[in-house]
Amino acid sequence: MAATLTCPICGKRNGYEFRYGGVDKGPRPDEEVLSSATWCDYVHMNKCVAGIQKEWWFHRDGCGAWFTTYRDTTTNLEVEKPEAN
Ligand SMILES: [Zn+2]
Repeated sequence: MAATLTCPICGKRNGYEFRYGGVDKGPRPDEEVLSSATWCDYVHMNKCVAGIQKEWWFHRDGCGAWFTTYRDTTTNLEVEKPEAN
């Protein structure tokens, strides 16, 4: 858990106010050409990055907003301005 996270509505808050929502995997696969293997990969396979990754967070003890932010998994700290990947 990060020491602090920045909610886009409430601002910087204690990390214990938030619930982790998983890695941001980008847009969902196209359902018109979706195979069960592609869907399984999208839902269950994670890259487990050692470094900066984009993640979903829920402000559970605050405004109730879902938002994405960047966190360095090696330090567990939020990265405010990540470099382009
Ligand atoms: Zn909030």
